Amino acid sequence: MIADAELQRLRQEIRAFMDTTGVQWATEIEQSGQVREGIWHELRDRGYLRLQPPVELGGRGLSLPQYLTLLEEFSRGHGSIRMIVHVQNGIWRPMLRLATPEQVDRFIRPQVRGDAVVAFALTEPHNGTGSDIHTEAVRVGDEYLVSGEKHLITFGGVADFNLLFCRLAGTQGADGMMALLVPHDAPGLRIEPMAESMGLRGTDHAHLHLEHCRVPVSHRLGGEGEGLEVALRGFLDPSRICVGMSCVGLSQRALELAVEWAKTRITFGKPIGDRQLVQSLLAEAATDVEAARQIVLWAGREWESHPPSQRAAAMAKLFALESLQRVTDRALQVFGGLGYFKDHEIERIYRDARAQRFEEGTAEIQKVTIARQLLAGE
Ligand SMILES: Cc1cc2nc3c(=O)[nH]c(=O)nc-3n(C[C@H](O)[C@H](O)[C@H](O)COP(=O)(O)OP(=O)(O)OC[C@H]3O[C@@H](n4cnc5c(N)ncnc54)[C@H](O)[C@@H]3O)c2cc1C
Repeated sequence: MIADAELQRLRQEIRAFMDTTGVQWATEIEQSGQVREGIWHELRDRGYLRLQPPVELGGRGLSLPQYLTLLEEFSRGHGSIRMIVHVQNGIWRPMLRLATPEQVDRFIRPQVRGDAVVAFALTEPHNGTGSDIHTEAVRVGDEYLVSGEKHLITFGGVADFNLLFCRLAGTQGADGMMALLVPHDAPGLRIEPMAESMGLRGTDHAHLHLEHCRVPVSHRLGGEGEGLEVALRGFLDPSRICVGMSCVGLSQRALELAVEWAKTRITFGKPIGDRQLVQSLLAEAATDVEAARQIVLWAGREWESHPPSQRAAAMAKLFALESLQRVTDRALQVFGGLGYFKDHEIERIYRDARAQRFEEGTAEIQKVTIARQLLAGE
């Protein structure tokens, strides 16, 4: 937690940075389809990749609601830059839950310093996510031999380690699930880049193929059977709240662009913003943005005071992602046909927005989570 005045200063600093350097980076990323290493370095050197981790680990120690207000600024700027900030500011949390002091020094401190990139590897091509994963590990002496596949892994190609979820061979459901830190050069791991994505350009998504991949037992976080807890409660719940705020940042920018366009585009002798039907689009979008912001901040406060707040996290993500789809659709409508072309930022925002319906679980899965808790009387 930092003082309010310092938070405001930091927010203005990030806004100014994203409105200048961030805009240049955004143009470069969209043109090249790549996020070059220098961008990672500058974000690290400015301290933006360690806003959330505790001070004892070398971070700034912001509370989750404080961090969320800053994440909105990155997200308003560009989806891929937001993705770097989001993943690097969140991945220490599930690791810290179960790491031994030796693992904290070896894996978490370098990640917080920005010297090591860690990707989150859960999703599989042939199975459902969570307790349905099939990637298996067999213990042989001091090593696990891991076999299976992971895909859609953000930064899977550039990461030094994949925080990879698998199960002890022969187990089912949550039993025997493990969290392993798999080095990028582990024998038996093949990393294949995925096809170019619709949006979030340059964020590097990988398909991991593991064939008797050798991982030291000392790279296991927590015990055999504790993996699902790390994945869901340690990472996904807070991360869903953060993805909710990523939706808010994108929506906010879409709204700003639409308002500006409505003031300057003239048809039939008047700015389109003078027409009540266009005003209606803007008013509905503005209401959606604010409602999403407030539910996400509420979920952030809930998470801090009553972790794990699974339902609050799912509600925040669900509302924010659905509101984002409405806002970007309306904003694009205000632009008319020109908004469909790549020289308008709204085109990129519309594409980036679609990814939020998948990241950290689909809308359908958020609904499953909320309903399950409701029906269980929780
Ligand atoms: C840009 C991007 C980045 C990503 N980054 C990562 C990452 O870093 N690490 C990682 O592990 N994963 C990552 N993912 C994967 C993401 O988490 C999954 O795409 C998402 O959880 C959906 O899973 P799936 O793709 O396997 O869809 P599927 O499980 O195949 O689902 C297909 C459809 O069926 C619905 N469905 C499936 N099961 C059920 C059910 N039980 N009840 C109701 N509906 C159901 C889904 O909602 C969806 O609409 C990323 C995805 C994207 C697009």
